[in-house]
Amino acid sequence: MKESFSLDALLRENIKKLVPYSSARDEFKGEASVLLDANENAFGSPYSKNYHRYPDPLQHQLKEKLYQIKGVPTENIFLGNGSDEAIDLLFRAFCEPAKDNVIVVPPTYGMYEVSANINNVALKKVNLTADYQLDLDGIAAAIDAHTKLIFICSPNNPTGNSIRRQDIETILVNFDGIVVVDEAYINFSKLPSFTKDLVEFPNLVVLQTLSKAWGLAALRLGMAFASQEIIRVFNKIKPPYNINQATQEIVLEALQGVEQVNTWIKLLVEEREKLSASLAELDEVAAVTPSDANFILVKLIEPRALYNFLVDKGIIVRDRSKVELCEGCLRFTIGTPQENELLYRAIVDFYATDND
Ligand SMILES: *Cc1c(COP(=O)(O)O)cnc(C)c1O
Repeated sequence: MKESFSLDALLRENIKKLVPYSSARDEFKGEASVLLDANENAFGSPYSKNYHRYPDPLQHQLKEKLYQIKGVPTENIFLGNGSDEAIDLLFRAFCEPAKDNVIVVPPTYGMYEVSANINNVALKKVNLTADYQLDLDGIAAAIDAHTKLIFICSPNNPTGNSIRRQDIETILVNFDGIVVVDEAYINFSKLPSFTKDLVEFPNLVVLQTLSKAWGLAALRLGMAFASQEIIRVFNKIKPPYNINQATQEIVLEALQGVEQVNTWIKLLVEEREKLSASLAELDEVAAVTPSDANFILVKLIEPRALYNFLVDKGIIVRDRSKVELCEGCLRFTIGTPQENELLYRAIVDFYATDND
């Protein structure tokens, strides 16, 4: 439990003072037969479905459905145009450009750094340890009076492992800024989500997405779970209609398919374990990092040559071999059983024909 926490002390002055845009849909919410308040086209549109009215700015129906699936109350949910929108809003709400700073723990997701750069906010890097866990002393030493956010990705991208829960809690308790736990891959992990800890930690923001396990990357729907106070700030500064009507409708329908998604998750996890085990047996493979995600980070000899060989075969993987602490590694997303078999065969072929 966090003893004292002041959101006001963290927010930028301009955000505290901000009067948000009040849309037509904010000002009138009841049922009406004649809507002449928002300058829409009353005839409709040339498209076969009706998209001529502005959508619900706060996506009430979608949040209700997400509450049923995830058990997080609707007032604690923010929906964004991908998690990337929530990441950007965190910077804009809390970080004074050229004055505040944030901490990231590489190797990790690249978007935190890009967002920091876009917002002209200094970024402090405290590398993960050799076993891809948090360097708690290093993080404590990096925190100063202007540190507003700490980003922790768990399961981590690109390493795939989960960050020890106890360590994340240590930071939540001792750091008075916002701790962002990015759970983009939580569906593939057996560990519980931090969404259960929102009451205990008012400085916690949990990010999830429909882009990975839910298979809806093209629709762009990211979720942030946090205290009502923090969600209210997000709602105040987000673009008024940030989730379009088509996305709201399609996602609402897709969320009926929990069972299908759970079946896929089970299969992907089985495939992950199978591919990890097969690759670990190859002499040319130095290490397969144990993964709680839908990808594996594999350290192997001649990573760049293997990468190019795979590209020639039409198989695209992610080359992380030049990334600090991932030297010599490629990242393989787990695909269908057929795709994983093709990848495995191609890797075996490469090493079999390599030494002539
Ligand atoms: C893929 C990914 C996301 C998802 O981003 P979206 O904008 O929701 O598609 C977020 N965080 C991490 C670590 C990811 O790997």
